[in-house]
Amino acid sequence: MRSNLNTYSGGCSCGEVRYSIFDIPIFTHACHCSLCQRYTASAFVVHSAIETNNFSLVSGKLIDTPGPSGSGSIHRVYRCKTCFDQIYSHYNFVENNGVLILKTTTLDNPNIFPPQAHIFLKNKLDWVKIDQDTPKFKGMYKREDVYSIESLKRRRLVE
Ligand SMILES: [Zn+2]
Ligand SMILES: [Zn+2]
Repeated sequence: MRSNLNTYSGGCSCGEVRYSIFDIPIFTHACHCSLCQRYTASAFVVHSAIETNNFSLVSGKLIDTPGPSGSGSIHRVYRCKTCFDQIYSHYNFVENNGVLILKTTTLDNPNIFPPQAHIFLKNKLDWVKIDQDTPKFKGMYKREDVYSIESLKRRRLVE
């Protein structure tokens, strides 16, 4: 199994699914849209983009289920076959699925990848307070506006 300094592990709540990622995420954001609120049954979702080949399922089985999408495009949510916890998503606007969107809070230590942007603030719940320094957007951002040069490079390599 691959391993390096930037290996991080995570899994589902029943414990059957365990996975590793082999680099820091390309970018992490929190989405406050009402679809994310519904399908997480929470105030917002935290999503990390990472190259699909930097993700490895270590144990358990994933099933893919249709997910909601504000854009109307197809969105697949990959879940633990046993407890149905969401692990990652593929969006069809990501050509050839070179990037997956990891559910950041399934990591064993999600604290190390805080959101680098907050999106869809127009749907944000009033009681959610966001720190001053993190970029905020009414809707979606343009990658060029928030990604580092390095992250833009990584993202372009897999599209
Ligand atoms: Zn599970
Ligand atoms: Zn959302």
